[in-house]
Amino acid sequence: MNSSLNAARRERELAEVRDLVVDVLVVGLGATGAGAALDAASRGLSVAAIDAHDMAFGTSRWSSKMVHGGLRYLAKGQVGVAYESAVERGHLLGRTAPHLVRAHPYLLPLVPEVSRRHAALVMTGYRAGEGLRIAARTPRHLLPGPSRISAAQALALASPLTSRGLRGALLSWDGRLADDARLVVTVARTAAAQGARILTRCRALELSGDGALVRDELGGDTFTIRARTVVNATGVWAAELHPGIRLRPSRGTHLVLRPETLPGLAAGLHVPIPGESNRFALVLPQPDGRVHVGLTDEPVDGPVPDVPPVPEEDVTFLLAVLNSVLEEPVRREDVAGTYAGLRPLLAADGRTADLSRRHALLTTPDGMVTIVGGKLTTYRRMAEDAVDRAVSLGRLDAGRSRTAELPLVGAVPVDGPEDANGTKSGKGVDSEKGREADRLLERYGSEAGAVRTLMAEDPWLAEPGPTGVTGAELVWAVRHEGALDVDDLLDRRTRIGLVPQDRAAALPLARAALAY
Ligand SMILES: Cc1cc2nc3c(=O)[nH]c(=O)nc-3n(C[C@H](O)[C@H](O)[C@H](O)COP(=O)(O)OP(=O)(O)OC[C@H]3O[C@@H](n4cnc5c(N)ncnc54)[C@H](O)[C@@H]3O)c2cc1C
Repeated sequence: MNSSLNAARRERELAEVRDLVVDVLVVGLGATGAGAALDAASRGLSVAAIDAHDMAFGTSRWSSKMVHGGLRYLAKGQVGVAYESAVERGHLLGRTAPHLVRAHPYLLPLVPEVSRRHAALVMTGYRAGEGLRIAARTPRHLLPGPSRISAAQALALASPLTSRGLRGALLSWDGRLADDARLVVTVARTAAAQGARILTRCRALELSGDGALVRDELGGDTFTIRARTVVNATGVWAAELHPGIRLRPSRGTHLVLRPETLPGLAAGLHVPIPGESNRFALVLPQPDGRVHVGLTDEPVDGPVPDVPPVPEEDVTFLLAVLNSVLEEPVRREDVAGTYAGLRPLLAADGRTADLSRRHALLTTPDGMVTIVGGKLTTYRRMAEDAVDRAVSLGRLDAGRSRTAELPLVGAVPVDGPEDANGTKSGKGVDSEKGREADRLLERYGSEAGAVRTLMAEDPWLAEPGPTGVTGAELVWAVRHEGALDVDDLLDRRTRIGLVPQDRAAALPLARAALAY
């Protein structure tokens, strides 16, 4: 079946689901729900998957975009969580999404605040991470090992670093997503190609083990979707539909800097947080040239908002940590955008930073499966576990999960990671044309050629807008990626909207794409 999602397909499938009893109804189209839709559909089950807003509307678009090997969990003795992360990272890098997930280098600058003992401890951790890579059978050419580099090498990779007292840096590698929202849309499209009905703007008002009362948020009418089993994958909103679950959301804030604010960053940075031995702030260069700086971990009480606001104290805190390792401080007015996400952590005693990141499966007596917690990195495994449970509860006729082997839409093999100078072997990214080709390859994989063909249709379609995104990419998103309005285009199919000024500048392009 075709993987293209668009308004016409939504209309058609919305009409179909009213007369069906599907095997699995998935509620929530973040990474977990899209993953569950794919897992179930690829086992041959009939699937409807709904979201109250858009795909990737929730926490999944507010992540640090890291595909973790799970080192942090290892440090806390959570060996199972760490191993699971490393295995899932290997699937994404090597087979299922090598276009969207690539290895990226990170430096821990050895500034005077990092003692020799601390540095030695961190290096021991990195070596344990190598052990995880080997245990997960991820080849070294996809994910190089750690090393210690000199101060001169560190400054060559990250020129904004301060040279004052810099003894060198610890260099390590981990997976990085081209974009988290893009992963979700790609998983959902792959599910659609397997026959899943992906229905955005459909809110579950009530949920039980045999279906949901749903409101079409565009048409306004209310109807029922009947199902043999139901998977509640609504993340931080899960408790609203599953009585008895207690979540303790924790806010993670990022700053967004323009490319010119921190130029010369070929590697990301792990910046020690003063007074914390195992927590680091992250400086994360993005494929579009912007730099994200994160991330806080603050418990949040009260009703869960659609889009979490960013308090000014988070910005002040992140700027202070960032500036502790820079030659020239970044000022408040240099912060071009901010965003915050809420981690869907299960309630337990203790600090949210210490709560387990392992996912949990909960069932209601009438057979609804709720899946919460976990990470973007482990979305596939979470989905597999949720569908396994649904299959057994609903006594459905389905085989084992196939998703560890199933390439996502656009997956094309890559040659290996960038070297630590940020260039990819054999891809000619030194030229403007080469960089543009690589940008499209990373976002669209095997579909990059079709996007390029669309660019040739009309001159305005090839004009780059903010962050280099062209009109053709927006039209592609309307025709194939289920974008229904300007917000879908600017805030999820592309991330132009992370900088409000860029968003305003791109509005005419988005409107033209919707009208084309
Ligand atoms: C700041 C931050 C940084 C992170 N960084 C990383 C990272 O670098 N790497 C990593 O692996 N993990 C990271 N994580 C964790 C990861 O982002 C989350 O665990 C994951 O995205 C959760 O996905 P989800 O699909 O479960 O939930 P969500 O993405 O929140 O999806 C839930 C969906 O349910 C929908 N919904 C809600 N109510 C209803 C309803 N009634 N009817 C229909 N739909 C509904 C919402 O619209 C939403 O789209 C980070 C988390 C945070 C907060």
